Amino acid sequence: MRTALIIWRNGLLALLAGLAACSSPDQSTTQAPTAPDVRVRYTARRVALPGVPRRGRILDRHDSVLVATRPEFLLGLPRRGALDTLALGQLLGWDSTTVRRRFAEARPYPGATRYPVQLRLTPAEVSRVRRDSAAWPTLTLGQRPRRTYTTPAGAPVLGYWSAEAQPFLGQARRAARGRFYRLRNGGVESYYNGLLAGHRGYAHPLEDAQGRPHGSWTRDTLFQDGQDLHLTLDVKLQAYAEKLLGNRKGYLVALDPRTGEILAFVSGPVYSASIITAPDQAGTRAELLESDDRPLLNRPATLANPPGSVFKLVNAAVALQLGAISPATGFRCDQSLISCVHDHPRPRNLTVALQYSCNPYFYQVMRNLIERVPDSLAADTVAARHANLAQWRRYVRSFGLDSVLGTDVPREAPGFLPTPAYYDRARQTRRWTYRSIYSLSIGQGEINLTGLQMANMTAIIANRGWYYPPHLVRGIGTGGPLPRFKVKHHTLIDSAHFAALLPGMKAVLERGGTAEASSLADVGIAVAGKTGTVENGSDEDDDHAAFVGFAPADNPQIAVAVYLENAGFGATAAAPCAVMVMEKYLRGSIAPKRRNWEARIKRRARSGY
Ligand SMILES: [Zn+2]
Repeated sequence: MRTALIIWRNGLLALLAGLAACSSPDQSTTQAPTAPDVRVRYTARRVALPGVPRRGRILDRHDSVLVATRPEFLLGLPRRGALDTLALGQLLGWDSTTVRRRFAEARPYPGATRYPVQLRLTPAEVSRVRRDSAAWPTLTLGQRPRRTYTTPAGAPVLGYWSAEAQPFLGQARRAARGRFYRLRNGGVESYYNGLLAGHRGYAHPLEDAQGRPHGSWTRDTLFQDGQDLHLTLDVKLQAYAEKLLGNRKGYLVALDPRTGEILAFVSGPVYSASIITAPDQAGTRAELLESDDRPLLNRPATLANPPGSVFKLVNAAVALQLGAISPATGFRCDQSLISCVHDHPRPRNLTVALQYSCNPYFYQVMRNLIERVPDSLAADTVAARHANLAQWRRYVRSFGLDSVLGTDVPREAPGFLPTPAYYDRARQTRRWTYRSIYSLSIGQGEINLTGLQMANMTAIIANRGWYYPPHLVRGIGTGGPLPRFKVKHHTLIDSAHFAALLPGMKAVLERGGTAEASSLADVGIAVAGKTGTVENGSDEDDDHAAFVGFAPADNPQIAVAVYLENAGFGATAAAPCAVMVMEKYLRGSIAPKRRNWEARIKRRARSGY
């Protein structure tokens, strides 16, 4: 594009005409010079320099190339006249079935609806055409760059280049109507588009009416190739975790707690990364768009769910910080307050309560928090409850909840923590009591967390109180990640209180704990974790299963959150997936002892239940 500006040389610089009005450099007008302020007309132009920037590649944390731009070969068929498809098939080495299939996959010429078409060729087929080009003067051979995926894994992370996703976006708009925006997930390809794309170079010459050069009217823009993106993702771990979830609804997010780097990010049901942009996959895309399981939702980022019992960890940390309990506090497993599914020893302290996930225990922990009378108040319990809930919320919010974490995952949801005013409205009275909000104590009711927040919450506990925002890109070109991913965030909880959670979290995977069967003690890995089973609200569907945990418990290198919709108990459904991802990451393989187990999970994943 060229633009023209008109400039006086009497010390003033003025823009006479709008850029759009003067699109041609020849459009300058001359004026008779009038002394003493000699007016000369100048033309400012923008001239594109040669060179089209290469789009950057996307690599995993070990430098495996996941997405790159490769040439796509297109064979243009004659626009007029009959075509001998039999002879064309012989030229390309195709039998009649292949001819039919390849024609079905062909793309029409731009502007044409069906025929004539361009056939997509492999490099081997291209050389056959070149060899016989003399006999086929009406064929044209063209090529254009195309994003190529080297792995089916990582679809919700990699996303798509929107220039290639127009057919999908059109399909999605028709299929999803008002909820279309929820299906748009361009992944890192769209989040970092400007950096991946690079930019062309431009010169900005200034000329007078006679076309004589007078330098530049602004600095030249340097040509820049697109930059490579180095992901935090471990593609082998990602592929492994995708096999464990398969066709099941839910998510798995694994982080390195020390850096906030996302190691695996699975949204189930899983689909293959190339499907969204592949020209011949419209049918598969239609199936994905129509599926009741909504596989195209980016679940860990965009859906917020009640966390269930895993949230007892956060409530315990807040209660410890505010002095509502100590690690030695015991309560009765009093089932007149709330049911407790487990038959278990008396929760004589926090560790035992966590190990057996005792509901009445955590009911009473939260009641201590909400029903206390703060120092600043007399015994006005309504005001006290409001103040205490607001304070609880402030402490819980410091875990990065009820707001977006600021990750580089598009369309991140904020989740929700109820405010006192929310209950005033919802209960239609300011005089609500703890009895009407107690489900918060076991992570149910109005509270909602995204998968990213669940994983980050786990990383915070592993780090004993701080986090770096979870992110997908650890390096841009030869540089590091975006600056905000190097900013450390601190919760309002002292590290000692997180340390007090650890014995209970380890006990969860030891004898008698709710996830005893998922212990990795046989390979020398101590896992700290917490199971959760989240009531569904509907009697017809199974509960949701959740598990969060990190390993090694005393030197955490990986934190994992798993959530499986309608999968039943957290311990039996979610915990095994989480610990096998830990084992795979820390040991590189799965011990023979768990191979049968692994096979069973994968079978279940394929069936979707
Ligand atoms: Zn109990």
